[in-house]
Amino acid sequence: MRNIDHIYIDGAFVKPHGTERFPLVNPTTEEVIGHVVLADKEDTQRAIAAAKAALPAFSRTSKAQRIGMLERLHAAVIARAEALRDATIEEYGGPVSRASWVSQYAAQAFLDAARTLETYEFERRVGSAIVVMEPVGVSVLITPWNSNAGSICSKLAMAIAAGCTTVIKPSEMSAIQTRIVAEAFHEADLPAGVVNIINGRGDVVGTELSTNPDVARISFTGSTGTGKIIARQALDTMKRVSLALGGKSPTILLEDADFEKAVPAALNIAFQNNGQACIAGSRLLVPHRRLAQVVELAQAAVAAMKVGDPADPATTIGPMANRNQFDRVQAYIRRGLEQGATLVAGGEGRPRGFDRGFFVKPTVFANVGNDMTIAQEEIFGPVLSIITYRDEDDAVAIANDSAFGLHAYVFSADTRHAQAVARRLEAGRVAINGMQHDPLAPFGGYKQSGVGREFGLFGLESFLEAKTVMTA
Ligand code: ADP
Repeated sequence: MRNIDHIYIDGAFVKPHGTERFPLVNPTTEEVIGHVVLADKEDTQRAIAAAKAALPAFSRTSKAQRIGMLERLHAAVIARAEALRDATIEEYGGPVSRASWVSQYAAQAFLDAARTLETYEFERRVGSAIVVMEPVGVSVLITPWNSNAGSICSKLAMAIAAGCTTVIKPSEMSAIQTRIVAEAFHEADLPAGVVNIINGRGDVVGTELSTNPDVARISFTGSTGTGKIIARQALDTMKRVSLALGGKSPTILLEDADFEKAVPAALNIAFQNNGQACIAGSRLLVPHRRLAQVVELAQAAVAAMKVGDPADPATTIGPMANRNQFDRVQAYIRRGLEQGATLVAGGEGRPRGFDRGFFVKPTVFANVGNDMTIAQEEIFGPVLSIITYRDEDDAVAIANDSAFGLHAYVFSADTRHAQAVARRLEAGRVAINGMQHDPLAPFGGYKQSGVGREFGLFGLESFLEAKTVMTA
């Protein structure tokens, strides 16, 4: 049993004032594997006070000092890659192949930030003025359970690069991962108060963080609903808010794509991270004449997937992260059936042979109308909707007919053509012929998928204020 009964404030692991115990459940076995003690409002205020006290000295550190810190953070996180991988499997159900990748990705964020910082000019001439880029101040980083360690590290890396001190509020459901990265940060020996980490409920700790006047900035990743609450709460004190929210990303198969390759790739894009990914390509847009072929290929791709124990390297899809998620996915599958979509793979209930664990069947619907609930709302599970289009204009219109605009995917034999289609899509990122990630390129959403951009220069500047100095 893991009992996580400390929070990290002002350079030390301390007992929280809060006493509520939140159970940690292994989603593969449904067993309680530990508890986390949740911080309360008083703990939150202590964390903010520590970050505030550390800010003046930290904001004056040199580039070289901060690059050194980022390198130490990288080394400390990478040293814990295996522990992080195991925690991701145990508390989240992430398949081992992906869980291994996530810990590398988390550590790499520090080196990428160091690279960005190296060449960044904090002062530049604009017209007759000097523009000075200054740290925005105490920054709150709020992260979700589906990419907890990755989000913590990529947000923290940019805050440190900018010279901001932080209070991190991870998802309480990922407390084991959080504890591991907290130990890494402690080992990296940053000045006390630069990093503070508190586990707690969103409505208690999160509310204090988004209303406290000493907080200058919030970088949030999570659901669209929660993002809207935070943005509203933060408005009164005019915090700089960036929100990385949900998606309903389209994958467009252009007529000339190699369908034999593109359909299985599209399924992987849809079901990555057990479908619990904001960038999942959960709508597959195909030429209407090719529907039968796509359905057949999709069925074969699903049959080749292995649902099971996330610790088994052969597993491609593990359980949903928690019971809520399991119930949510089941409800969407029922809704798809009620609204008249055609089930071509998967369906309601657990897969055959599973009598426990939050496992769901990888599910594909065909004949989905883009106005159906399953095509408009983010399901956050392995459920794919196949939607047909008449011609390319129709494909673009369907892709853009969404409240979201986080990501899009295009498959085509002609990459120039695919790039031209990409320019017509309302999405913060478009990937052509497969899943890709460039950690220096901006990431964020159009429309209700969010506000602001993370990573690279854009990420760094989101933690800075521009000051114009003019001399007569
Ligand atoms: P997810 O279910 O993907 O984690 P949420 O948006 O519910 O998505 O949660 C993301 C993060 O936001 C979590 O750390 C959660 O505790 C936090 N959170 C939830 N409600 C609030 C709130 N009212 N204010 C601030 N943070 C919140």
